[in-house]
Amino acid sequence: MIKLDALYSGKAKTIFKTDNPQKLIMEFRDSLTAFDGKKKSTAPKKGYYNARISEELFRLLEEGGIKTHFDSMLSDTEMVVDAVEIIKIEVIVRNIAAGSLIRKYPFKPGQKLDPPILLLDYKSDEYSDPMINDDIALALGLATREELLKIRELALRINSILVEYLNDRDLLLPDFKLEFGRRNGDIVLADEISCDTCRFWDKMTGESLDKDVFRYDKGDLASAYREVARRIVPGISL
Ligand code: 5GP
Repeated sequence: MIKLDALYSGKAKTIFKTDNPQKLIMEFRDSLTAFDGKKKSTAPKKGYYNARISEELFRLLEEGGIKTHFDSMLSDTEMVVDAVEIIKIEVIVRNIAAGSLIRKYPFKPGQKLDPPILLLDYKSDEYSDPMINDDIALALGLATREELLKIRELALRINSILVEYLNDRDLLLPDFKLEFGRRNGDIVLADEISCDTCRFWDKMTGESLDKDVFRYDKGDLASAYREVARRIVPGISL
């Protein structure tokens, strides 16, 4: 496979075209941003840990019958993925109250949410990812009613698989963000599942092992991501 020009460069990943129009290369970088890009930094090996965590979780979900855009790894930080049409909706699944949920609503920090709460954001830097509902998604033409139903069902199945897997590795999954894409008339999981897109808490201590370490200056980001990689990716070289 030949890596061609960059198609898109986001805050933490760059997407490259390849000589196969059906495939893209997603490169995980060491840069990161928070608060709408106002806070920026880099952390050594962050791209590597996130790429390997995402790879492992995509493989786990595929084994569980969830279709994803994952194809293979080209290197430790480069993932080959299917060229899907990204649906501009961020799907947020919440199992424990944290983050913007406790800032906006009277939930107690750490309150268990059973059944999980599913929220939708419009994926748009211009509008700062505002929360939407099905009616707004339909009116904006972001997805059809059938697609929204399918996305909801997939997000809850993905959540069940991840919660169980992570629990066995002494990690809690308070919340996370998913993105989906269209591939040959089907909906598949896209983007990444990593310390940048999930809250991971140590089951015993409640310590944050994710991007909150960077957002709220809670310690060393690379060590937190390394610890998650150690627990999630069997045999990873750290
Ligand atoms: P919150 O709404 O509390 O800020 O985020 C909820 C969860 O979704 C967190 O795990 C957070 O990492 C993830 N999330 C929500 N929006 C985004 C986003 O635009 N980018 C990334 N990387 N994660 C997001």
